[in-house]
Amino acid sequence: MADFDLVIRNGTVATASDVFASDVGITGGQVVALAKGLGAGAREIDATGRLVLPGGIDSHTHIAEPRPGPTANADSFTTGSASAAIGGTTTVIGFARQARGGSIAEGVAEHRARAAESRIDYSFHMILTDPRPEILTEELPRLVAEGYRSFKIFLTYEGTRISDAEALEVMATARRLGALVCIHAEHHDLIMFHTKALLAAGLPAPKHHAWAKPMLVESECVHRVCVMAEALDVPIQVFHVSGERAAEEIERAQRRGLKVWGETCTQYLVLSADDLDRPGFEGAKFVCSPAPRSTPDQAALWEMIRRGVIQNVTSDHAPTRYAGPDGKSAVGLDAPFTKIPNGIPGLAARMPILFSEGVAKGRIDLPTFVSITATHAAKLFGLAPRKGTIAIGSDADIAIWDPQKRVTITQALIGDANDHTPYEGFEVTGWPVTTLVRGVPVVEDGKVVGQPGHGQFLPRGPYEMIQPRGVFPGPFNPVDGVPA
Ligand SMILES: [Zn+2]
Repeated sequence: MADFDLVIRNGTVATASDVFASDVGITGGQVVALAKGLGAGAREIDATGRLVLPGGIDSHTHIAEPRPGPTANADSFTTGSASAAIGGTTTVIGFARQARGGSIAEGVAEHRARAAESRIDYSFHMILTDPRPEILTEELPRLVAEGYRSFKIFLTYEGTRISDAEALEVMATARRLGALVCIHAEHHDLIMFHTKALLAAGLPAPKHHAWAKPMLVESECVHRVCVMAEALDVPIQVFHVSGERAAEEIERAQRRGLKVWGETCTQYLVLSADDLDRPGFEGAKFVCSPAPRSTPDQAALWEMIRRGVIQNVTSDHAPTRYAGPDGKSAVGLDAPFTKIPNGIPGLAARMPILFSEGVAKGRIDLPTFVSITATHAAKLFGLAPRKGTIAIGSDADIAIWDPQKRVTITQALIGDANDHTPYEGFEVTGWPVTTLVRGVPVVEDGKVVGQPGHGQFLPRGPYEMIQPRGVFPGPFNPVDGVPA
């Protein structure tokens, strides 16, 4: 009789704190033993010369999310989860969306049904586009209790954005319910002012998308949401910090002791505004918000990762095909940037690019890589210690990496349902060859073997990390209406 369901033998295990030689014993989908020379497994994987890392957690993914207007999200959970696993990711946090005037409970129920076909585990943030009083006081308390413990708000995009007054109500609600607010922070009116002026000046090309949204529109808004979070004593995560000035606002808030966390995305580390200026209409493939910035901004973000200011790197996977009636080119190859759907895909490319550009090129060490791709997201979103690490009792969500393997990223390799990747031709060193979700192979030697429906919904209960500090800048607690 075997001692374990599965033993991963002779590998080098890394967590966010340690790197050590060990076998990993897995039974019942969990890690049950970590030591050299473990007894026999019913199945064994030889990991000699390989890295045995926690499966990635991509906490910012738009999979199968309906969009307003004529464009469509290319992925289902069947294809999106396959692509994630190809890139070593074992858990995604997606978005359930409230239609304006509608119910968020309805949006959650619809998205749960879509996600049932996922091959990997999943949880949701709730996008609040219309935080009316009954949503805040009736629907959200119930949904948070059911394990949907994070809200997303947008301060830009017509049809999705909410006002500062509404954002404050959402933050106060999050504080009362023990939920985390994640924010898309850009100065909407300033973007609109730039956009109008650019179109009037005859500057409508994809590259002018970045001109419409200079760094200032982001850094101002990041500063503003940090002030709001400070005034209400509410923990927040700022989504997709794209460059130096916005990251500096996060750092300043952290220095004041605030629970403000910053996320960046793969694209802001390796793509730039120059990509928006590729010949013809190719730049459309790089239209996302915030816009890709400059090479010095990329270097600044790596530095912010090393200093621990930016702690989480996600894909913001938002796949829109290039061709077809619902694609980026649907309005024509001379469409103004205002008509190009925002968002780029990146589920599979995220971890290999971060490993190659980060670890292989010496910008970060292996524990930092594990932290920014898995462990920090697990902690921040209430999934630790079940997810995001390799420890006794944690789920056996594991990616086995060949650290020397050289791969050229192509759309054929990526495995999602999009028709292009912005990382086409990108060369990486290091690739996750096998991906396990709760001990079950979802990708084996580069091939998708996991079944749709293997993924489980991860409800998230209350947790310490997002407890408010109990510190207000003045003598009054405006959330509860009492002296601070
Ligand atoms: Zn997003």
